[in-house]
Amino acid sequence: MTQSKSIIVIGGGVVGISCALSLQADGHDVTVLEPGPVGEGASWASCGCIAVGEIVPLSQPGMLMKVPGWLLHPEAPLSLRPATALGLMPWFARFAANSIPTRMRSIAADLAKLTFVATDDFKAQIADIGHPELLVERPVLKLFDDEGDKATMGAAFDLARELGCTIDEISGLEAHDIEPGIAPDFRYAAVLRDWSYVTDPRKLVLKLTEAFLTRGGRVLPVSGADFERDGAQITAVVCSDGQRLAADEVILAAGTQSKPLAKKLGVTLHLEGVMGYSTALPDPGVELKHTVFYPKGGFGITPYEDALAVAGTVEFASLNAAPKWRRADVLVKRAHRVLPGLRTDTRERRMGRRPFTPDTRPIIGRSRSIANMCFATGHGQLGLTLGATTGRIVADIVAARSIALDIGAYTPDRFHHSGRADVGTNLQGGRNDD
Ligand SMILES: Cc1cc2nc3c(=O)[nH]c(=O)nc-3n(C[C@H](O)[C@H](O)[C@H](O)COP(=O)(O)OP(=O)(O)OC[C@H]3O[C@@H](n4cnc5c(N)ncnc54)[C@H](O)[C@@H]3O)c2cc1C
Repeated sequence: MTQSKSIIVIGGGVVGISCALSLQADGHDVTVLEPGPVGEGASWASCGCIAVGEIVPLSQPGMLMKVPGWLLHPEAPLSLRPATALGLMPWFARFAANSIPTRMRSIAADLAKLTFVATDDFKAQIADIGHPELLVERPVLKLFDDEGDKATMGAAFDLARELGCTIDEISGLEAHDIEPGIAPDFRYAAVLRDWSYVTDPRKLVLKLTEAFLTRGGRVLPVSGADFERDGAQITAVVCSDGQRLAADEVILAAGTQSKPLAKKLGVTLHLEGVMGYSTALPDPGVELKHTVFYPKGGFGITPYEDALAVAGTVEFASLNAAPKWRRADVLVKRAHRVLPGLRTDTRERRMGRRPFTPDTRPIIGRSRSIANMCFATGHGQLGLTLGATTGRIVADIVAARSIALDIGAYTPDRFHHSGRADVGTNLQGGRNDD
């Protein structure tokens, strides 16, 4: 048993609450700060996948060349808001710099180290809270109109396979046999065997929170606003209501809002909120048993327990940009290409900001400038997948236990460097290809 500490977790999204549960299991006294409705962080708007093979970064070769098109076509699956484009350029340039094949490979390998253990960690987590039924262990399907459409995923599939993912290619008709609701005229499909999905991402966070509370944890409906310090040590977290909470350890898991909070401590995080939208259709009129992605349309359709959810879009906008709900509506319109019988008259729209780093790697670990903070953010498109794994790693860091995998690649200090764009090594041995 490790020595019991008083720990504040800032942020009660899927990552924060997973950290809180793991730390609580080690006997610590844990308080979570969560100002929003529990369960309605970015994961609420997600595709709900334990996306083991989602390891090839979005920064694909030729990325910068595509930016003008994204500015001109605001409803394209990937877009960049013109009003915020200038402010986002430094982040974006770093993101695009990672399209070099050697970096893509290195990032994919670093993500695979985490995603390949994610299903086991997730299953252990939901078994521990008594809700194993929250996971549906069925592979995910990707659909392609034709040869050219399939070719857009070719390099990503090759790299994912090379690193150990299982992807089977089948015909569109075979996909239609598996899911008769799918239009029969897709030419090709892929079965992503390592993936699975959750029955309801909001319920997942609610159930994790419920278990945490039942075991004696506290969730306060306030924001973490500032810190009191004694040199490299945080002594207290100052909350939005003015109360001051003394802490032995602080976990920063506030999703995209981790960036301004880290800045208060002098730690620069290259983190932006990449927006995505989801529309829940409680009366869809078609049955689906697998999550189905249509990459060309930029969305996935997940059969949650009480609705089909059409979710996707990659919208680069500033950290606090307001949602553009028509982007959610465009996805629903396009979803008829996949499910011609889809009924869309009753719907509920959600928006989530994926906390994205330019190198797609999450930010997990300590910064050398703060002795008692552990970072747990920047999970991009993989926060739901990696919540349980991150929680386990954070608990190991706090307990100073040895960690089976090298976490140097996820260090928060990788953003502090001389400005060189190449891959270097920082003082802690982490890489600098942010
Ligand atoms: C369309 C879409 C599809 C996606 N699909 C998938 C998928 O299939 N699989 C997958 O793994 N991931 C997916 N994701 C990504 C996933 O949702 C995120 O990576 C994940 O939600 C990040 O978790 P988080 O806890 O870090 O952040 P969040 O879920 O955003 O939670 C952060 C929490 O911190 C709170 N907070 C903010 N500021 C403060 C503060 N100052 N003090 C205290 N609390 C604060 C917020 O209220 C929020 O609840 C998708 C996302 C989107 C948008």
